[in-house]
Amino acid sequence: MNTNAELIKQINDLKQRKNAVILAHCYQNVEIDEVADFVGDSLYLSRQAANTNADIIVFAGVYFMAETAKILSPDKKVLLPRKESGCLMANMINLQQIREFKAQNPGIPVVCYVNSTAEVKSECDICCTSANAVDVVRSLNSKKVLFVPDTHLGEYVGSKLPDIEVITYPGYCPTHVRILPEDVLEQKKLHPEAKVLCHPECSKEVVELADVVGSTTAIMKYARESRDKDFIIVTEIGVVDRLKRDFPDKNFIHVSFKAVCPNMKWNHLEDIYNVLLNENNEVDVKPEYAKKSLEMIERMLAVKV
Ligand code: SF4
Repeated sequence: MNTNAELIKQINDLKQRKNAVILAHCYQNVEIDEVADFVGDSLYLSRQAANTNADIIVFAGVYFMAETAKILSPDKKVLLPRKESGCLMANMINLQQIREFKAQNPGIPVVCYVNSTAEVKSECDICCTSANAVDVVRSLNSKKVLFVPDTHLGEYVGSKLPDIEVITYPGYCPTHVRILPEDVLEQKKLHPEAKVLCHPECSKEVVELADVVGSTTAIMKYARESRDKDFIIVTEIGVVDRLKRDFPDKNFIHVSFKAVCPNMKWNHLEDIYNVLLNENNEVDVKPEYAKKSLEMIERMLAVKV
C-alpha cells in the first residue's frame, strides 16, 4: 500500500512526464489539493487549464465539469478520475426535458447554469455561474426568463430582480437542499457572533437566514477578507475543510454534516494516479454540442458584471 507521500511523488512524476495539469474542485476530498495545479470552482478551473500548454487535463470533479474543460480545450485530452462521478442536479434534465420546457414556455430566453450537461447547454441562450447569474439574467433585457436546471438559484435570481419573471425548471442540488433552516438556526444559537455565509443553491428559507449569499469563490473571498473571526459555512463541507486549512486563525463552523456531495467525494489520490497512468475515462463532447455550448459560455463571459 502506497503512503500518501509516495503517491503524491508518483503522481507528480507522471504529471511531468505526460505534460498533464490537475484540477481540483473545492468540494473534492482535500487531499487532492496536494497534487492539484489549480483549486477552485468549475469554470475557473476549466479556464485556467485552457491557458496552459498541457496535453492532458485531469479533472477531479464531476462529469459536467470535465465536459466544460473539454469544450474550452478541445485539443487536450480530458480525463475524469471516476467516470461515474455525475452531478445529481445536472442529471435532472436531459435534451428531451429541456426541449419540452422550452416548448411549454415559447419565445422566452433560456439561461443555463453551468452545472448542466453540454447537450442541455446547447439548447439554451446563455450560460451563467452562481457568481454572475443575476447579471446574466439582467443582461437579457427580457421581462421573462427561463432558468435551468436549479430552481433555487433561479428563485434567488428572481428575488434580486423583482421586475423580471424567472421561470425555473424543477431541478435542485440534493446536497444543498439537505441543509435545513433548523440547521442554520441551531448553529446561530450556538455561535451568535458568527457570520452566516450561504450558497444560493440552498432553499429560499435557508438563504433568507444568511448574512452573505454567494458562490463558492465569493464565500471563500469574503471569509479571507472579512475582519470577522467566526463563520457558519452553509455549503458543501469541502469548502469548510479548505477554509480551516488556509485560515487557521479564524473559526469556520460547518452548518450540517449532511451537506456532503457523495459524487464529489469518490476521488482519492489513488484514482488520480490510476487515471493518469492508464489515460482511461476520457471525456469527449459531441461537436454539435461543444460548438453551441462554447458560444453560450462566451456569451456569458461577455456580460459586464
Ligand atoms: S454539490 Fe450539488 S451541484 Fe455540486 S456536484 Fe454535487 S450534486 Fe452537483
